[in-house]
Amino acid sequence: MTGGAGFVGSHLCERLLDRGDEVVCVDNFYTGSRHNVYHLLDNPRFELVRHDVTFPLYVEVDQVYNLACPASPIHYQNDPVQTTKTSFLGAVNMLGLAKRLHIPILQASTSEVYGDPHVHPQQEDYWGNVNPIGIRSCYDEGKRCAETLFFDYHRQHRIEIKVARIFNTYGPRMHPNDGRVVSNFICQALRGQDITLYGDGSQTRSFCYVSDLVSGLIKLMDSDASVTGPINLGNPGEFTMIELANAVRELTGSSARLVQMPLPADDPRQRRPNIDRAREQLGWEPSVSLREGLAKTIAYFATVI
Ligand code: NAD
Ligand code: UDP
Repeated sequence: MTGGAGFVGSHLCERLLDRGDEVVCVDNFYTGSRHNVYHLLDNPRFELVRHDVTFPLYVEVDQVYNLACPASPIHYQNDPVQTTKTSFLGAVNMLGLAKRLHIPILQASTSEVYGDPHVHPQQEDYWGNVNPIGIRSCYDEGKRCAETLFFDYHRQHRIEIKVARIFNTYGPRMHPNDGRVVSNFICQALRGQDITLYGDGSQTRSFCYVSDLVSGLIKLMDSDASVTGPINLGNPGEFTMIELANAVRELTGSSARLVQMPLPADDPRQRRPNIDRAREQLGWEPSVSLREGLAKTIAYFATVI
């Protein structure tokens, strides 16, 4: 698993080890951390390798989960050239690995491939509305190009591919300073600081709890070879940022004020996955409600900040 020491990756490592798999966790610790996988280091079936996926990797494995890539706007915009390289060269290198070993490979793609969508909710046959030269493009276009490479390796080299389009996911081990909305709102509420609404807070997102996402990723990897994706993995519940802020205030018992800040460039107006394909092809749908997931995430942040 590349990116295994990150937020999603650390949960995925844990779940695979729990069912008896061996895991080689590959990470350059750009946004992830050894702390996220400390508790796994004693497990003889777990191996941690420091490696940057923009360089080739030679290991002997049975499957590849390709998660390496900074995911929060603050992090991926900090070094945009490296972000594009990670998506593009990381995909080339990991697809090369899958080709040499004749093994299935899963790509952690993203709802960002839909950009600021004109089709709502988003289904997989929608091609998206993406700015190719904006500040989010290093991530969005990097992920879109990675999808292109996955499908070309599939058509040209018969590689078994699995492309997951992941919608906003949250839960314990999110980085407290990564600027994503769930971690920001919870940390602000717990610290008694103002809650920062970007724009008027009417934009929407759909939030998936991390344990649900991990189940979907494993089901996708274990699915029949004919299931290539792209396949949306997300929770179809749709909330405005004001609704999210109010839920966080209520669950933390905070009376923090909501303050408006400028809306970042190219911030999508709305996002909600159509998950019919995941239901039909994987028998998957999320089971953790936003309030339930927020309560668990708040309990986690209360211990770390
Ligand atoms: P994260 O930043 O916590 O994890 C990414 C991991 O990749 C980190 O451990 C980081 O150190 C590692 N990494 C980055 N560049 C690397 C490189 N060049 N070589 C090796 N490792 C590298 O983010 P996350 O939320 O866990 O996201 C995991 C994956 O899921 C990403 O590919 C992301 O694009 C995708 N995704 C996440 C979300 C979400 O809401 N969390 C939504 C859509 C897609
Ligand atoms: N957002 C916000 N306040 C914050 C952080 C984010 O209102 O402190 C908004 C942001 O503008 C976006 C939404 O929350 O409309 C989700 O942002 P995030 O960075 O979590 O994810 P993405 O935009 O990539 O979906």
